[in-house]
Amino acid sequence: MEVPGRVWAEVDLGAVRHNVRTLRRRSRAPRLMAVVKADAYGHGAVPVARAALAGGADSLAVATAGEGAELRRAGIRAPVLVFGDLTPEGLRAAARERLAVSAHSVPSARRIAASGLDLEVHLKVDTGMNRWGLEPGEVGAALKALGRTPDGVYTHLACADSDPEATGRQLALFDSVLAAHPFGGALAHAANSAGTLWHPGSHYGCVRPGIALYGLHPAGDAGDPAAEGLRPALALKSYVAAVRRLEPGEGVSYGLTFRAPEPMLAATVPVGYADGYRRALSGRAEALIRGRRRPLLGRVSMDACVFAADREVRVGDEVVLLGEQGGGAVRAEELAARAGTINYEITTGLNPRRVERSYA
Ligand code: PLP
Repeated sequence: MEVPGRVWAEVDLGAVRHNVRTLRRRSRAPRLMAVVKADAYGHGAVPVARAALAGGADSLAVATAGEGAELRRAGIRAPVLVFGDLTPEGLRAAARERLAVSAHSVPSARRIAASGLDLEVHLKVDTGMNRWGLEPGEVGAALKALGRTPDGVYTHLACADSDPEATGRQLALFDSVLAAHPFGGALAHAANSAGTLWHPGSHYGCVRPGIALYGLHPAGDAGDPAAEGLRPALALKSYVAAVRRLEPGEGVSYGLTFRAPEPMLAATVPVGYADGYRRALSGRAEALIRGRRRPLLGRVSMDACVFAADREVRVGDEVVLLGEQGGGAVRAEELAARAGTINYEITTGLNPRRVERSYA
């Protein structure tokens, strides 16, 4: 683990609890499954899972059996669904840890049945995303292969944040699958964060939000989380390690891609792309120092980058790379747009071996 104080993430678990309550209010479904895969989108799976459950989540979801096992090792007993495909070894681990598994295909349903393991099973149906899941025409064969009624049946929405018509088509297809087969009391679920917020027809028995739990906007690189009543949970901070004067024409960082147009001050901050502060932000991002936005000068390097400064800026000052300071804010959506990515990747890409996390 990194020595504290170089670059750190402050995670507000009160915000996670608030976001769960907000999503529950927006949902018609009786249940909420909190998606905490990928180390809770970079926020820390165990503390976030506990906060989500305290905020009113009924169950949790992860991508891999290893992620589920981590929750169990921490003593979390709530139901956990693994979204990903599992090998026979993965199925044994799921049974050991009491994790529910997903059947994505007829062979995966067969593998689950052949394992003879006592597993909770959710059938995943592909209604248009063409990535994971049973084609609607294969559901009968999967039910036969499984040899019993599944505990759940679900689908995933490809563009609930952007295309209501395509979402409507996916939901109509899911409805026809639900009507065509004897699912008994199986729990139906479809809504990611965007479905939870904007498509009540996707709520069924349970909603399954991820990104919105963290107070981030489902559109990825646009949109204001506050407009949806969400509170961003993560702030990324570092400090000013050096201040130097640049003469006109002097360049900064690898490639000297930024040149000082006039005499100016520049602050070196010990955060770089190895921490997850992306190189694609080079010359594009801003950070908050002493309550003011400061442009990033030149390239982000592995362990450091440089921001514009003025005479107010002192060595040791707090630098807010993501989050709020002095009434200003840098949002994950803004960094995502500037880096040409989505907010999901901004937080999930933080390197937990270097970025110390603290919880409040
Ligand atoms: N359901 C499934 C199957 C997922 O894979 C994911 C995340 O990718 C989610 C729900 C949560 O999605 P979001 O983070 O957009 O709310």
